[in-house]
Formats: sequence, structure tokens, C-alpha cells
Amino acid sequence: MAIKKLLGLNRLAKPLTSEEGRRVLERDQYRCQYCGLDGMSSFENSLIMTVDFVHPRARKGAKTLNNLVTACRPCNVIKGRRVFKNLEGAKAYVLERRAELQKDWEDKMTRLRARAATVSK
Ligand SMILES: [Zn+2]
Repeated sequence: MAIKKLLGLNRLAKPLTSEEGRRVLERDQYRCQYCGLDGMSSFENSLIMTVDFVHPRARKGAKTLNNLVTACRPCNVIKGRRVFKNLEGAKAYVLERRAELQKDWEDKMTRLRARAATVSK
């Protein structure tokens, strides 16, 4: 018991079983509840679908259907262990962060393409 407490394992929900995960994925029709990526549109998309604890398991989030949503792995990683008021709050954060990351990526690609064009002349 003392060791569990030290490791922060007390009262954390158990990980999902595959059956519980499947139930969430099917309820959400395999669509990421943050960015909307459709896990049924391609095999590649289906591979990155995960189940997210809206209130993180690591922060004592409950393993209940209303605390679980389908999330693509990138959205799940971006959200991490942050705590939000609700799904809408989490979604707003994830989408804003994705937009920032996309802008950074576009700027970087513009720079790299410009450099490649200079080098090839
Ligand atoms: Zn997503």
C-alpha cells in the first residue's frame, strides 16, 4: 500500500480493457473527437485511433463512458495530462495547439524549400 502511494497509483482507474475501448470507438464511429479525423476512412487512420480519458487517468479521471472519447494519437499526445473543465475546453486547446504546430511546420518548410532552391542554383 505504501509503495502504491509513493508511485501515485492509489485510486487510479485501471487501464481500459480492449472490450471497453472497442465500445468507446464504436460509439464515436472511430472519429477523433478533437480534430474529427475519420478512423473508418482508411486503414492508416484506423491505426492511430486511441481512447482518451478526457479528465486524465493520471489525474484520477474516472473510467466511465462519459469521460472516455475516441482520439487520434496526435491529438491524444498534444492533450497529454492537462486537465480541462470539459471536452469542449480540451478540444479548444488541442485545436489551437495543432494550428500553432501547423504554422511552425509551414514556416519551416518554406525556409527549407527556399534554401534548397538557393543551393540548386
Ligand atoms: Zn485528432
